[in-house]
Amino acid sequence: MKPDTLSIHGGFAGDSISGATAVPICQTVSYAYKTAQELADVFHGKAPGYIYTRIANPTTTALEVRLTLLEDGIGCIATSSGMAAIASVVMSLTRAGDEIIAATGIFGGTVSLFENTLGRFAVNTNFVDAADTNQFAKAVNDRTKLLFIETIGNPRMDVPDIQAIADIAHKANVPLVVDNTVTTPFLIKPVDFGADIVVHSTSKFINGHGTAIGGAIIDTGNYNWRKGAFDDIKDLSERVGQLAFLANLRNLIYRDLGGCPAPMNSFLMLQGLETLPGRMVKHDENAKQLAQFLQAHPKVSWVNYPGLTDSRFNDRVIKLFAGRGGGLLTFGLGDKQRAFSFIDSLKLAKNLANLGDAKTLVVHPASTIFHEFTIAEQNKMGVTEDMVRVSVGIEDFEDIKADFQQAIERAFKETK
Ligand SMILES: *Cc1c(COP(=O)(O)O)cnc(C)c1O
Repeated sequence: MKPDTLSIHGGFAGDSISGATAVPICQTVSYAYKTAQELADVFHGKAPGYIYTRIANPTTTALEVRLTLLEDGIGCIATSSGMAAIASVVMSLTRAGDEIIAATGIFGGTVSLFENTLGRFAVNTNFVDAADTNQFAKAVNDRTKLLFIETIGNPRMDVPDIQAIADIAHKANVPLVVDNTVTTPFLIKPVDFGADIVVHSTSKFINGHGTAIGGAIIDTGNYNWRKGAFDDIKDLSERVGQLAFLANLRNLIYRDLGGCPAPMNSFLMLQGLETLPGRMVKHDENAKQLAQFLQAHPKVSWVNYPGLTDSRFNDRVIKLFAGRGGGLLTFGLGDKQRAFSFIDSLKLAKNLANLGDAKTLVVHPASTIFHEFTIAEQNKMGVTEDMVRVSVGIEDFEDIKADFQQAIERAFKETK
């Protein structure tokens, strides 16, 4: 099946008992077996079956199968949040003394996880410029255990050369982890450009309606765990082959950390996936039009949208995302006061810390998501005082434009 069909039918062919066409929400903690022997066999992996929803759940399985198909992977584990997905991956691949190489200008929560939380466990992260591939190669050493990038860095909007960075990772025999939250499988399948593990915050475009937090981990099958740099996973691969990374996660780190999704939330993600292809087209079209409108506006200081033809990343956007720049952009009105005044004047767009909703959303990153970082750190991450981040929704573009137009006018009147 083609992606547009998989997003609706993948992983579920209808409920065999009731005929329900929506994936049933299997709202249960545990699963009963008739005999003590049957349950013992499931625990020992001798028979298939569900044990406990912290480890696996049928509604969540349907989501995992659909995401595996959409990302062209070999398997998936859905998590309670995007952060749970990233934390689980990194904790399964690193130990005290190991190092991560990550791009700068990525999601603030991920930066904090790498710097603060993992730093406490002596796993150190080397941050390098996402746009400058050579910096990744220079940062590799024998303690490096993984490379981490976002397809489009949020909020700096840098587009890394995924294939070249994958080549660097593979030369060092370590996996490349790619966060595909902002682009989704409908703009790029990172597997096609060498990515080994794909992570998502499904809270964003995949959910699409701001109704549930979730995440996902997909093994693309590109990395050879049998010859890899991880002894425990290598040992397991003797028994389970290429699924060793995910098996190790599900039966150890994921199980032990407790980052499982609620079945209801898996249902909401499945429902979101059904309309994702059409929504991504409209997000992209509206964002492109809004970026062009802002770029032509005399009062706007700057616009950063990789989908603009004069963006320094335009070549990579064409190569990686077939020319689509996605639904996120940032722009500046000169200073913080005007940014605040603009946000306060909006009537349609919502001011909140989320992205990927059907609704147009704005946020002032420096005073919200990035408020814990110093100005110098913020600038390194690509966050400036005058920056407004916009997650462009799928409303009629004329209504979005009118809202932005009147709010820019008011911001300049109020701050004259
Ligand atoms: C939101 C986000 C995350 C974290 O996901 P949560 O679901 O909020 O935990 C990770 N990466 C990116 C790119 C994000 O936008």
